[in-house]
Amino acid sequence: MGSIHIKLNKVKSILKILDEMYPNPKCSLEFENPLQLMVATILSAQCTDERVNSITAALFAKYPSARAYCDAVLEELEESIRSAGFYHNKAIAIKESSKAIVERFGGEVPKQMELLVQLPGVGRKTANVILGNAFGIPGIAVDTHVSRVSARLGLTSQKDRDKIEQDLNALVDRSGWVKFSHQLIQHGRKICTAKKPRCSLCPLRPQCDYGMNPDTVKA
Ligand code: SF4
Repeated sequence: MGSIHIKLNKVKSILKILDEMYPNPKCSLEFENPLQLMVATILSAQCTDERVNSITAALFAKYPSARAYCDAVLEELEESIRSAGFYHNKAIAIKESSKAIVERFGGEVPKQMELLVQLPGVGRKTANVILGNAFGIPGIAVDTHVSRVSARLGLTSQKDRDKIEQDLNALVDRSGWVKFSHQLIQHGRKICTAKKPRCSLCPLRPQCDYGMNPDTVKA
């Protein structure tokens, strides 16, 4: 009981500092509807959001609906997304998820977690990105930044992303889940980077297990 209170106090301090550092964090992928966000999120695996944004304007114009992705010639779709990397697998994921959307959901991206994760290529992270940013339904999208930063801060000891999500859900008020995800992602990109976290510059350091004890806490 005591340790959960200590942890909740620590989270309160962390959230306050994150709000000061990143007061208005947003999804950096450009999109105008849930389908576009789904496609952009699939493309963003192992690729920067900037690069994804540089190809999606033309992509979305060429393929304006789930039906259009279904009917796309695979090689042509691959060519349109080539610079995002892993273009063969990503093109298949986009086509297969679009096919399921057309065949099972009348061409509209569903807004329920249990239905979204049934789409090929869509896991809980992508589903939470879509729910939080396209539908305004709270969720913590656990990507590489969220899992790394939350582990260093001592908010989770889990490795499995679904379990990390559960730990963070229990610590942060539901209304703050989407903002918290964006803040951890921004912090992971700017300061708490994978290889050399800039702890000496980090305002979260007094609250951070790794920052205060880098020799004993695994980065
Ligand atoms: S103190 Fe270091 S490890 Fe902790 S959040 Fe800041 S940059 Fe990351």
